[in-house]
Amino acid sequence: GSVFAHLVQAPEDPILGVTVAYNKDPSPVKLNLGVGAYRTEEGKPLVLNVVRKAEQQLINDRTRIKEYLPIVGLVEFNKLSAKLILGADSPAIRENRITTVECLSGTGSLRVGGEFLAKHYHQKTIYITQPTWGNHPKIFTLAGLTVKTYRYYDPATRGLNFQGLLEDLGTAPAGSIVLLHACAHNPTGVDPTIQQWEQIRQLMRSKGLMPFFDSAYQGFASGSLDTDAKPIRMFVADGGECLVAQSYAKNMGLYGERVGALSIVCKSADVAGRVESQLKLVIRPMYSSPPIHGASIVAVILRDKNLFNEWTLELKAMADRIISMRKQLFEALRTRGTPGDWSHIIKQIGMFTFTGLNPAQVSFMTKEYHIYMTSDGRISMAGLSSKTVPHLADAIHAVVT
Ligand code: PMP
Repeated sequence: GSVFAHLVQAPEDPILGVTVAYNKDPSPVKLNLGVGAYRTEEGKPLVLNVVRKAEQQLINDRTRIKEYLPIVGLVEFNKLSAKLILGADSPAIRENRITTVECLSGTGSLRVGGEFLAKHYHQKTIYITQPTWGNHPKIFTLAGLTVKTYRYYDPATRGLNFQGLLEDLGTAPAGSIVLLHACAHNPTGVDPTIQQWEQIRQLMRSKGLMPFFDSAYQGFASGSLDTDAKPIRMFVADGGECLVAQSYAKNMGLYGERVGALSIVCKSADVAGRVESQLKLVIRPMYSSPPIHGASIVAVILRDKNLFNEWTLELKAMADRIISMRKQLFEALRTRGTPGDWSHIIKQIGMFTFTGLNPAQVSFMTKEYHIYMTSDGRISMAGLSSKTVPHLADAIHAVVT
């Protein structure tokens, strides 16, 4: 018999498993609102025009080679990524007290940052929002950190539980790491206001809590790269330390290229240099060095003023389509006279709406309406179109009446 005969079948990933179930459904009206990937009005994946142009430029350049990148990845990409998230005029960049390493998208950046902290930071506990993206607790546990949660979402208002958040961070042991969603919180779509961010910053700095920003949606929430980076820039402006994980999956549509970056903002250039030397020791035995193609695409776009501007327009168009889907779904429920307050659909922001539907209701909608979503009631607004909004509104109406 096989030495692996004792293995039990592992469950599907709760998010990716939704697509597996969707693919098996032969219904012509089936609708996949599970996975967080952008779709056009026609329901198709989108490759940005500016990405096509950048790739063409790379292909035409016959001097390009396929050597290994350094352990830290493409150096120009790292510099441009730091500038994109912190702003061109950031004091941390000017003072050269930041290190940025290319990682395997947002997930890889979180994992490398987590392993670095587990190895070199005095506090091993990381606080994550309740609820959060399902991969967060697994990433940080495997990185060697202890995961605890802080209150974030209030099911009664389908908004922020700000009091609970302040209480939980206020009682966290000094120095604890706190994971913060920079914008477009996943799965709730609920973000603090700028005033609330300022209060969070003051509390965290007064207690020496270490901010670890997860920025998977810069530009995708509001349509503006600068607006969505504001909370991070507030923390950097006070001169304190923080970590930032960036992903280009959503905002450049580079999902499968696995391109992202981890930045660690330090208090001096000297410390930043030593931090980078230790990051290399984390990365080398994990995957040696990151891939070259995605980072090259990003660098071509970020370094060229015209391509950069073109990108911001395409990004804004994606964000606007999602916002328009929110309005259309909200209107469709209003027209049907669906009981309940659905204003959270237009108040929440980013890729997802946390509908408030429970697992039994989700399961009813899948069975009767062939609508697929995660059992927590999260729907991907990017998976909707003007054509499919009525079907979803019918299903929600049926399940709550
Ligand atoms: N963080 C959050 C909150 C996310 O929603 C995602 C994508 N679903 C990621 C990180 C990482 O995605 P990726 O590894 O594809 O960049």
